[in-house]
Amino acid sequence: MNLNFKTNIPALVDGILKGDRVRLGRAITLIESTKPAHQEMAQQIIEKCLPHSGNSIRLGVTGTPGVGKSTFIESLGSFLVEKGEKVAVLAIDPSSQVSRGSILGDKTRMEKLSNHPSAFIRPSPAGETLGGVARKTRETIILCEAAGFNKIFVETVGVGQSEIAVHSMVDFFLLLLLPGAGDELQGIKRGIVEMADGVVINKSEEERMELAKKAKRSYKNALHLFPLKKSGWSTDVILASGLHGTGIETVWEMIASYETFTKENHYFIKRRNEQASYWLSETIKTGLESSFFKNEKIKAALEKVEKEVLESKRSPFEAAEYLLKLFLNRY
Ligand code: GDP
Repeated sequence: MNLNFKTNIPALVDGILKGDRVRLGRAITLIESTKPAHQEMAQQIIEKCLPHSGNSIRLGVTGTPGVGKSTFIESLGSFLVEKGEKVAVLAIDPSSQVSRGSILGDKTRMEKLSNHPSAFIRPSPAGETLGGVARKTRETIILCEAAGFNKIFVETVGVGQSEIAVHSMVDFFLLLLLPGAGDELQGIKRGIVEMADGVVINKSEEERMELAKKAKRSYKNALHLFPLKKSGWSTDVILASGLHGTGIETVWEMIASYETFTKENHYFIKRRNEQASYWLSETIKTGLESSFFKNEKIKAALEKVEKEVLESKRSPFEAAEYLLKLFLNRY
């Protein structure tokens, strides 16, 4: 794609603010680019969009591959666009850094929803680290909100650290599970269940209803054992089928009640503020780290110092101190 937008930043911003999905897509491509010039342009666009962002509910959706996340989001997203809402679907898929054909990018995703004029669907950015991918997604949320999207989904594959990254950028975290199987069988870590603001037993259809009800009971019991959430909200478990569209409205009612509840008790804004501080410190850390390793003096000294540490000629702490002082021009 031609990314020569240098003179066109105001036009891109203007397009985004008018809800133009093509310009929004181009600006996101700048965010995703690794070229410093594109990064700089992306930052200018983000800065201009920031005052117009924030007016949305950000929903994280997680669960193991095959649990039905895409189908569920398509179903809930379609329900919302029919109600007149504007829906954006983003994804965090750390595997996209390894293979270009990522789990989330591979399939023709959400065909029905993606053809709707009020929906915007973007696959996971590629990146060197999960942190990098997560940061790009967070920046993309800002642009989507500035473009008027007020229901933002962030989908993640429930197989590791990416849930924590998504949790750090959403207002409501939804976990999809299958009828019957226990935690271990579903590959879900205990901590992830604890993080959820809502649990959906997906694929709860006629032939699996008994198993689904059993799963609901056992997860409800498990959730009771966790300490009360900081939000004061108690996590509910809902039976649904993304494929058949059953339970979708109930899930939406749960999310809407959560929004009302946490806005009333001010937790909604508190969580967003905490997330903003987290991203501030994360961005500083990654910025410092990358300029440290790009620094010419560090590049020249690192290999030798590392060798000395490995040969036990220097302690790693003293060596790190030395390199930091070198970086900070204290020698
Ligand atoms: P993801 O990997 O979690 O995004 O899962 P997908 O949405 O791609 O669905 C994985 C498979 O499960 C596909 O074959 C879907 O057709 C099927 N599937 C998704 N949702 C449901 C559901 O609610 N009920 C049933 N029976 N199958 C479903």
